[in-house]
Amino acid sequence: MKGLMMDRPLLTTEILKHAVRNYRHTEIITRTVEGPIHRYTFSDSEKRIKKLANALVKMGVKPGMRVGVIGWNTYRQFELYYAIGGIGAVCHTINPRLGPENALYVINHAEDDILFFDTTFTTLVAQLAPNLNTVKTFFALTDKHHAPDFDAPLLTYEELIAPESDHFVWPEFDENTAVALCYTSGTTGLPKGVLYSHRALVLQTLATSSASILSYREGDVILPVVPMFHVNAWNMPYSCPMIGCSLVFPGPGLDGESLSELFETEKVTHALGVPTVWLGLLQYLEKTGKSLPHLKSVLVGGSALSEALIRGFEKHDVEMIQGWGMTEMSPVGTINALSQESKKLPDKERYALQLKQGRALPFVDMRIVGDDGAVLPNDGETTGNLQVRGFWIIANYYKADKETVTEDGWFDTGDVAAIDEDGYMQITDRSKDVIKSGGEWISSIDIENAALLHPGVAQAGVIGVYHPKWQERPLLVVAKKEGQNPSAEDISAFVNERLAKIAWPDAVEFVDEIPLGATGKILKTRLREMFKGYELPV
Ligand code: ADP
Repeated sequence: MKGLMMDRPLLTTEILKHAVRNYRHTEIITRTVEGPIHRYTFSDSEKRIKKLANALVKMGVKPGMRVGVIGWNTYRQFELYYAIGGIGAVCHTINPRLGPENALYVINHAEDDILFFDTTFTTLVAQLAPNLNTVKTFFALTDKHHAPDFDAPLLTYEELIAPESDHFVWPEFDENTAVALCYTSGTTGLPKGVLYSHRALVLQTLATSSASILSYREGDVILPVVPMFHVNAWNMPYSCPMIGCSLVFPGPGLDGESLSELFETEKVTHALGVPTVWLGLLQYLEKTGKSLPHLKSVLVGGSALSEALIRGFEKHDVEMIQGWGMTEMSPVGTINALSQESKKLPDKERYALQLKQGRALPFVDMRIVGDDGAVLPNDGETTGNLQVRGFWIIANYYKADKETVTEDGWFDTGDVAAIDEDGYMQITDRSKDVIKSGGEWISSIDIENAALLHPGVAQAGVIGVYHPKWQERPLLVVAKKEGQNPSAEDISAFVNERLAKIAWPDAVEFVDEIPLGATGKILKTRLREMFKGYELPV
């Protein structure tokens, strides 16, 4: 027997409606690309979103058409998210850090019709323009006064929306309609398109809004450093309007000084971003003696959280909460929100718990399997290939010719992890980065985290290198902190004290900087190239 409830579609514009109905005075604040701070309310924002929707429809943007956006986290990109999706078109967010070749590839692959870009990226877009196969119209995300020089005809965003009405009736359509498109970073091969549906993002919004997942409340002030040009800024452009939180968009100012200033002036209570950003901020705070008087928590994901970061921020009374996910998961999979009980654990045990990637969000199933596909136990010890399934997890890549999921309907994340009896998942590595020493697998994350606790270490990356007896052994590569000069022996002794003997790195090497990829993760491929043919001391 079928239930007799209304079958109304889950569309992202419903989130906007809710925000305007309940939190119309709540603010969205942006450090603009042009310089000054811009502030307005959800209610003002909705009016401009509707103007933009009118403009897009007038321009001939039809349902299903892809609209490219290369932009910083700003109120304008927020408007694009809702207006493009709201008319049934697809907002294709492009990561400018992918480099020109990949950017060209993804825009042509997505067949974007229109391209909006922040003026910071004018040179990049001008360089791409002659080879863009489908883009017919370019818009700079600014006003006439700040319009950049550009070879092709160019309008500005403000000129586009200015003449339009702020009345628009959102169309209703199937909730499985695509709303956004984001490509993976393509560190191993070409970027792959992940096409999100309205249904997926609305359900992810509901799950992330739960107080026991992320403890954000109405009135909190949230600053996503995690970019809107990649993985939907961890869903914050949807979760914050849903909960009634203010959004603070940092624009292009992602360095320690700019962030610290914005945290202070806007009284930011919660922030989100990858570990490298927080390491940068911590170094800035150490150097200047500044503090974080309003900040309560930071959600850290994209790569592993380290004990050094937890301790560093604890000094400022800021809780570091780890999350894990991926482009293919819209992107949130787990969040490690400590229970009130576990917050009382002795430091050592609490750190060990915080270093786990966390428990699954509602409606996300996780399992680990062996290379033969057999499901492995959740005992906290056994590691295996991490597979997931759920409402906001990819079924297939955009325009892919082969299936992405397993025969029994799971997506293989490419991560190697253990899951304990309480549901906490801990990643040891990407499967391609795992160090296979004899019959054992060594976690590079554990070694990197141990090294980061050393006061002279700014960045640490571990790779497996050839060993005649053990097949592979860990090499620890370190970038020193400014003004510090630890020796290789000193670092070895320091990390060995904190690791099981099997994981003791066989050598320590120094570099000026650890190579980072387009989403702020250590580029292990590049690190392996740098140490190709490296001979470990026997
Ligand atoms: P890409 O950078 O290729 O676009 P994503 O941004 O989708 O990839 O990153 C997904 C991957 O990032 C995960 O599969 C995992 O390996 C890694 N990752 C994400 N969060 C964490 C975390 N908290 N700890 C360790 N690794 C993480």
